[in-house]
Amino acid sequence: VAQRLAVIGGDAGGMTAAAQARRLDAQLEIVAFEKGDWTSYSACGIPYVVSGAVGAIDDLVARSPQEHRDRSLIDVRTRHEVMGIDLGNRRLEVRDHGHGRTIQVPFDEVLIATGARPVRPDLPGIELDMVHGVQTLSDAAALLQYAEKSACRNVVVIGGGYIGLELAEAFVERRARVTVVEARHHVMGTLDGDMAAPIEDAMRKLGIDVRVDTAVTGFADQIVQTADGPILADLVVLGLGVAPNSALAADAGVDLGVRGAVAVDRRQRTSVEGVWAAGDCTQSFHLVSGQPVHIALGTVANKQGRVAGINIGGGYATFPGVLGTAVTRVCSTEIARTGLNEQEASAAGFEFVVGRIDGTTSASYFPDAQPITVKLLAERRTGRVLGGQIVGGTGAGKRIDVVATAITAGMDVQQVVDLDLGYAPPVSSLWDPVASAARVALAAL
Ligand SMILES: Cc1cc2nc3c(=O)[nH]c(=O)nc-3n(C[C@H](O)[C@H](O)[C@H](O)COP(=O)(O)OP(=O)(O)OC[C@H]3O[C@@H](n4cnc5c(N)ncnc54)[C@H](O)[C@@H]3O)c2cc1C
Repeated sequence: VAQRLAVIGGDAGGMTAAAQARRLDAQLEIVAFEKGDWTSYSACGIPYVVSGAVGAIDDLVARSPQEHRDRSLIDVRTRHEVMGIDLGNRRLEVRDHGHGRTIQVPFDEVLIATGARPVRPDLPGIELDMVHGVQTLSDAAALLQYAEKSACRNVVVIGGGYIGLELAEAFVERRARVTVVEARHHVMGTLDGDMAAPIEDAMRKLGIDVRVDTAVTGFADQIVQTADGPILADLVVLGLGVAPNSALAADAGVDLGVRGAVAVDRRQRTSVEGVWAAGDCTQSFHLVSGQPVHIALGTVANKQGRVAGINIGGGYATFPGVLGTAVTRVCSTEIARTGLNEQEASAAGFEFVVGRIDGTTSASYFPDAQPITVKLLAERRTGRVLGGQIVGGTGAGKRIDVVATAITAGMDVQQVVDLDLGYAPPVSSLWDPVASAARVALAAL
């Protein structure tokens, strides 16, 4: 068992691992470096601080540096940025921004949990002050400061993924005029195009100017330039996805995998003995395609951190892989997906049928019944569920968990039809919408 564990990155992946390792090994010396001011925070909550639904950035902190010190005896050092990992001498080079000095810190084992960063396309003007990416609480603080300082009447969100859409809605709540620019044919690229129409309708109803098939070509003073002409902007938010922060690992000689994410085995071990990785900087395996993937989600980061921590603490745990299950709510519309979409299923070599239904979240005669659309993909030969997507009103999104469970259990659509799911008029239609979609897929088979 290690004597000193150094953790790089103080959020979900890093601190979950550190706290877990502590539970198993009371003797382990644990030091954690975080370049920002906060630890164990919910980046997922940032859009709701921007909108005003959540009062302050500090409300998003689940465990502060002091709480980690007191409860888990972890030596947390904020405003400490790890600049290099010297694997030959088992030493970190750390920049202590608070004191303006650089220190060398020895370690026996190291966990890399440096997260990801928003993709910044190489376009003219990208370095302008008004262009913001959002990943950490420090990014959120900078965004809020800028939004408060500038009049922030015109906000342009580049990219129609879930982070972009959540922030678009947040700025509508702040009474800004919001434009979402998406280069592809539809928003929410992790869903199939036929599921995106109700999302775009809901956004437009809220007053968001949704421009699909529109490529951004550059930024100038208070202008976003697109192939279709300029758009006024006091503030630009990048929502083009994230790239793993893996340069530190690569420079140290640790192998990278898919999309430049740190390659790990099932126990979160990297290619170098005593070097572990977890969270958004790390790759994982897709449970349906069997391929390595980089899926940056808080759910995955926490689970990988837990697995790494158990193993570092001397226990045994494995991370089985992911389905990319994700759920969000944008403009009162709940959006969810799991497994493979049509494009991903084809790329993985599957032939499939589709079962798609439009239904309601409660009995159709019930006064507040909300629309729900469920789409399932099932393998043509076996009927096995490969993926699912759901779009609808309140109560629609979390139904994706039934689909995720079915995929994980290797169920076919007949078994989903046969599931004994609950029903009462205020909470479901008699045939649960997921089971109804499975019936349509079964008929197509
Ligand atoms: C706006 C937004 C909404 C989201 N919503 C959801 C959601 O609804 N559901 C969901 O599952 N996921 C969501 N996510 C994703 C989720 O927040 C991330 O997957 C999760 O935070 C990843 O945790 P992590 O510890 O791997 O990385 P991060 O949270 O990025 O933490 C990495 C930390 O490492 C620090 N760091 C980096 N390099 C160094 C260095 N060299 N030295 C010291 N410190 C360093 C960074 O400052 C950072 O604090 C959302 C993310 C954002 C930005």
